[in-house]
Amino acid sequence: MLNEGKKRKTVLIIDDSPINIEHLAQVLKGDYQIKVANSGASGLEASRSQHPDLILLDIVMPEMDGYQVCRALKEDDSTRNIPVIFITTKSDIEDETRGLALGAVDYITKPFRAPIVKARVKTHIKLKHNSDLLEKLALIDGLTGLPNRRRFEQILKREWGRARRAQESLSVIMLDIDHFKEFNDHYGHLAGDRCLNRVAQALPGPLKRPADAVFRYGGEEFIAVLPDTDYGYALKLAEQMRAAVGKLHIPHQYNNAENPYISVSLGVTSVIPNSRITPRELVKQADRMLYVAKKGGRNCVRGQMLDDTATTSRHAGEA
Ligand code: GH3
Ligand code: MG
Ligand code: MG
Repeated sequence: MLNEGKKRKTVLIIDDSPINIEHLAQVLKGDYQIKVANSGASGLEASRSQHPDLILLDIVMPEMDGYQVCRALKEDDSTRNIPVIFITTKSDIEDETRGLALGAVDYITKPFRAPIVKARVKTHIKLKHNSDLLEKLALIDGLTGLPNRRRFEQILKREWGRARRAQESLSVIMLDIDHFKEFNDHYGHLAGDRCLNRVAQALPGPLKRPADAVFRYGGEEFIAVLPDTDYGYALKLAEQMRAAVGKLHIPHQYNNAENPYISVSLGVTSVIPNSRITPRELVKQADRMLYVAKKGGRNCVRGQMLDDTATTSRHAGEA
């Protein structure tokens, strides 16, 4: 079966003719959940509110025609990626070319044959599913399941923009496992991988807001992005993350004589973004603070607010 064990995919039919809608629905309703709209405008509205998995779009419709609907779909971030198949009596090569140039994935001419419609809809739903999966996998770290550095860059950019518009604090915590090379050397690379995985699972624990996120930044380095979080609270969260890793009690005899367990060092920084500074400087500052934490004996948190005037910077944790 096509959608066995999964939620049935949804196909939206946009056509001004009830007979055409009925005909297409008959062909597809065995395999898909069918939604219908009988005008361009209501079809656009349904696409935005219901996010169908595929749209079958008629071209000749009064007021707003299929070309206009397709253009509007492709201009809107929330509908851009929904595959559109034109299904129309317009069979000139110019019409077909125009439809495909607007971003439609396919073009079926009426009168259509049921098996052809079925096969093409199935193909495009499968292709869309696969490309969604690839995109998702490309943003996830395979070892830990955390979002990766590429995803971090996207999220940081997005949150930077938001924080700048809202004039809110954006905080970042960069952290690194202490003496991890020694761990690998003594316990083996596989044990190292398992350790990384356990640390990765523990780190998001203290973060309670849905927008807070931890990413695998590289090797044994992680980074947390904390939107609408001030410096004081970010320091507190960093301390909780440090404690959460400590509580795992992963033996590491070669870490530190007083603390023979896996530990992390953390660098914290915050800023209310403005046009004089860049997200990169926020990351650099967190990295500098991480370095200060390493120099300060490891298994600790160090921080400094990022300020483009430098004179108003605050230091913390330099005990
Ligand atoms: P420091 O306390 O200063 O951070 O010392 P360190 O030994 O942790 O730092 P260093 O950068 O010298 O070594 C990092 C080690 O992390 C070396 C590398 O083999 C290990 N590592 C990085 N990625 C992975 C991974 O995916 N799996 C395993 N097992 N080890 C990794
Ligand atoms: Mg390290
Ligand atoms: Mg490192």
